[in-house]
Amino acid sequence: MFPVVMPTYARADVAFERGEGAYLWSTDGRRFLDFGSGVAVTSLGHCHPHLVSALQAQAGKLWHTSNLYRVPGQEKVAAKLVANTFADTVFFCNSGAEANECAIKMARKYHYDSGNPEKVEIICATGAFHGRTLGTIAAGGQEKHLKGFAPVMPGFVHVPFGNLNELRAAITPQTAAILVEPVQGEGGVVAGDPDYLKRLRATADEFGVLLIFDEVQTGMGRTGPLFAYEWTCVTPDIMPVAKGLGGGFPVGACLATAAAAKGLSAGAHGSTFGGNPLAMAAADAVLDVMLEPGFLDGAKAMAAKLRQGVEAVCGQFPKVIEQVRGVGMLIGLKCLIPNTELQAKLMANGLLTVGAGDNVVRLLPPLIIRDAEIEEALDILTRTLSEVNK
Ligand SMILES: *Cc1c(COP(=O)(O)O)cnc(C)c1O
Repeated sequence: MFPVVMPTYARADVAFERGEGAYLWSTDGRRFLDFGSGVAVTSLGHCHPHLVSALQAQAGKLWHTSNLYRVPGQEKVAAKLVANTFADTVFFCNSGAEANECAIKMARKYHYDSGNPEKVEIICATGAFHGRTLGTIAAGGQEKHLKGFAPVMPGFVHVPFGNLNELRAAITPQTAAILVEPVQGEGGVVAGDPDYLKRLRATADEFGVLLIFDEVQTGMGRTGPLFAYEWTCVTPDIMPVAKGLGGGFPVGACLATAAAAKGLSAGAHGSTFGGNPLAMAAADAVLDVMLEPGFLDGAKAMAAKLRQGVEAVCGQFPKVIEQVRGVGMLIGLKCLIPNTELQAKLMANGLLTVGAGDNVVRLLPPLIIRDAEIEEALDILTRTLSEVNK
C-alpha cells in the first residue's frame, strides 16, 4: 500500500514525544542531545518557557485574521527587525522558500518599476539552496532538486561560489540581482569569504543590480551576530529569513530596504497565512530572547568553545574527518566515510545531527547550549569517531 504520508523524505526510524532545552525524548523512551535543532530552527531549544507562555497567551486570544486587516503583531515584529538590521521594511510569509520567492519577485519588480523591464535575471551560486518551490529550485540550480521537474523556470544563472571574476563576467544588461547565502548551509557548510561578500556589494552597486543575502539558515544568531551580513561590513538590499525566526513555529520574512521594496505595493504580493497573530507571537518572543543584552555574545562564546572542542576531537581522527568548517553554531564536519553513516552512528549514541551536501555532517545546536551540553556532545563525538575508526 502507498504510504498515507507521502514518502518524500528518507526519515530516520524514530519519533519524538517531548523536548526540553537541547534535549528530545523519543516515543521509545530514549533521550537525545539535539544538535540538529530541526534543521537550524529551534534555536532557543525545545519548549523555551518564554516562547511557550507567549504562544499559550496568544492561542487563547486570536490565531488568524488574514492580511485583509492590520495585524499589530506584524507591526511589532517588523519594527524590531528593522531596528536591528539594515532593513526598512518586512514582508511576512511562512517558510524560507516563500521568503526567497518574495525576494526574487521584489528584485524583478524593482527593475520593472525603474523602467528596466529587461532586468529579470538573478545570478546565483553553484551549490546553493534556496528552497523547493519551482522558482527556488531554479535558483538553487542543483540537478538533484531539478531532475524530473522540467521545464526549469528561466531567469537564473549560476557561477562558482566565491569566484568574483566569474560572477562579474556573468553580469549582463538583463541582470536584476545577485543572490547568495553568506554561508552555504545545505550545500555543505561553505562559508563565503567576508571579503568576497563585501566585493559582491561593490559589484552590485557598480552594475546597478540588487544584492540578496539568503539568511534563512545563517540568520537569527546562527553564525554569531543576529544576521551573518553583520560580519561582512556590508549590507544587502534584500534578505530572506525563516528557520530560526519562529523558534519552531513556521514563520518566514523578507527584509528589504525601502528602495528595493518600492515595487511591492498593494496587490503586488501576498500570503493568506503570512504573519498571522500566532506566528507573530512566536517571532516576537524569539526576538525578545535573542535581543536580550548578552544573549548573542553568550552564544558566540559557547560556539567558540564548541568549535575548539570539535576541532580537537576531530583532529584525532584524520581518517574519518577531513575538515571542520563553518561559522558560529553552523558547523560542518567534512567526512571521509559516508556522512549518513556517521550521522546514524552519532544518533545511535544519542546525538542528533543533520546531513548536508559534499559529504558533510552539520552540527546545528540550539544557541542556548552551555558547558555541560558541549561536553556531552564532545564525549559522544569522541566515542562515535573511535567506533568508526576501527
Ligand atoms: C532551509 C533553507 C531554505 C528553504 O526554507 P524552507 O522553509 O524549507 O522553504 C532556503 N534557503 C536557505 C539558505 C535554507 O537553508
